[in-house]
Amino acid sequence: MKLSEIQSTLRDLDAPPTKSLGQNFLHDRNLAEWTVAQLEIEPGERWLEIGPGLGSLTDFALQRSENGILIEKDDRLIDFLRKRFANLTIVHGDAARFDVRDLHKHGPVKVFGNLPYYVSSQILFNFTADTAPISKLVFTLQRELAERLAASDSTKAYGAPTVLIGKNWKVQLLRTLPPSVFSPVPKVDSAVVALTRRSAGEMPECDAARFSELVKLGFSQRRKQLGNLISGALGPWRAAFDSLQIPQKVRAENLSIAQWCQLAAWSEEGLSRNSEEGAQDVHGEIFDVVDEQDRVIGQRSRHEVHGNNLLHRAVHVFVFNKKNEIFLQRRSRWKDVCPQRWDSSAAGHVDSGQDYDQTAVREVFEELGVEVSPSLTGRIDACADTGNEFVNLYQARHEGPFRLPPAEIESGEWFSQNQIQEWTQARPDDFAPGFLRCWSLWLHSRKLEDL
Ligand code: SAM
Repeated sequence: MKLSEIQSTLRDLDAPPTKSLGQNFLHDRNLAEWTVAQLEIEPGERWLEIGPGLGSLTDFALQRSENGILIEKDDRLIDFLRKRFANLTIVHGDAARFDVRDLHKHGPVKVFGNLPYYVSSQILFNFTADTAPISKLVFTLQRELAERLAASDSTKAYGAPTVLIGKNWKVQLLRTLPPSVFSPVPKVDSAVVALTRRSAGEMPECDAARFSELVKLGFSQRRKQLGNLISGALGPWRAAFDSLQIPQKVRAENLSIAQWCQLAAWSEEGLSRNSEEGAQDVHGEIFDVVDEQDRVIGQRSRHEVHGNNLLHRAVHVFVFNKKNEIFLQRRSRWKDVCPQRWDSSAAGHVDSGQDYDQTAVREVFEELGVEVSPSLTGRIDACADTGNEFVNLYQARHEGPFRLPPAEIESGEWFSQNQIQEWTQARPDDFAPGFLRCWSLWLHSRKLEDL
C-alpha cells in the first residue's frame, strides 16, 4: 500500500496508529513484495500472517495461495480486514497467546509478519515452539533482535535467544530496513530474518526441557564462568567439560549451539545413548507369542515376531492432565516402525514374563520418566492396524513435565481432545495406526460413559 492510501484508510476507520500496538505500517510496495517472496509460498500452501494491519503484505501472499490465516489484535481493524480478505480465516486476538497446537490440523504452515516490536520475542518463541507444525518463518524485527538471533558464538550479540531458537531453526538475517519505509517512522532500524527448520540430525539429540534450563542458567550472568553457573543443575561439570573437550574457563557465549546440545545430553543419565545403542536394545527383546484368544503359546525375539507376523501383546497409555488434555509423543526418526508419527503418551510391547498392567507402568516410566497408576480403558483384538498386537489401552493422570529419551521420542505435547479429534480427522497419516485405533476406542468408551 502507498503511504497516502495507508493514511487515508486509517483516517476513514478513525484508527490513528497506536504505539502500544507497535503500529508502524510498511508503505514500500517493493519491499512488501520482496519480504513475502522470501517465504516461497507454493500455490495452495497454508500460510499465516501475524499483525496484517491494513494488509500491505497480505496482498502479496494472497497472490501466491488463498489458504491463509491472519491474526490481528487491533479491534479497530478487524471489520476492515474481514471485508477486504473475505476468503481468509481471520483470528481476532493476541499472536503471543495464540494456541499453535490448533495448526496441526492444517499440516505444515509458513508464517510471516512485520511484527509489533513490543511483543516480538514472545511471538517468536510461541511460533518456534518445538512441536509447532511450522516449516518456515519470515519476520521483520527490530534490527537488534534480528542480529541477536543470527549471531555467531563468541560475539556480543550471541545470547540465550540465539541458542534457544538456533537449536531447531537456522536463522538468516536477509536485509536491514531504514525507518523511512514505515509510517509512523520508528526510532530504530529494522531487519528481515528467515527461520528455516533444521533437518533431523543436524544438531545432537538432547532433552528439550533440560537444554533450555541449562541455557537460561548459563546466560543468566554472562561475565561468570559457565562451570560455576551451571554446576547446581549439571552436577560434576568438570567431568562433563573434559569429556566434551570444553575448556574449563569457558563462558556461556563461547559454546556453539551444538555444544549446548551435547552438554544437555551429557547431563541427563541415559539420554546421551545414541540411536545404535537404542536399536541394539530393541533387537534383544523377547516377547510372549499368543494365540487368537490371547493365550501365551511361546516366546520369540522381536525380530522373529515382526518378521513372521506372530500375534503378541502391547499396551498403549493415554496420560491426562488436570485440563483433561492428553500428552502425545512424536516417535523418534530412529524407530523401525512409523518414525516421526504421533502416538499415544506411552506405548510398547509386553515383554516375556510380564503382564499388561506391569507393562503399562514400565512403559510410562521408561518413556516419560514418571511413575503412574494406570487404569484399564479397553481392549483391541490383534489386527493389521495394531501390527498383530492385542492391545490394552490404559489411562493415567500426571501433570508433567516429562523426560523424553531422544532415541525413542522426538518430542511431545499436551493436546485438548478437540484438537486431537480435528487433527486425526483432517490428517490421519500424521499418526501411528495403532494410536488411531486406540483413539477411536477412547471416543467409543467416552460415548458409553455419557449414556
Ligand atoms: N503488517 C502491517 C504492515 O506491515 O504494514 C502492520 C505491521 S505493524 C508493525 C504491527 C501489526 O501488528 C499491527 O497491525 C498491530 O495492530 C498488530 N499487533 C500488535 N500487537 C499484536 C498482537 N499481540 N497480536 C497480533 N497482532 C498484533
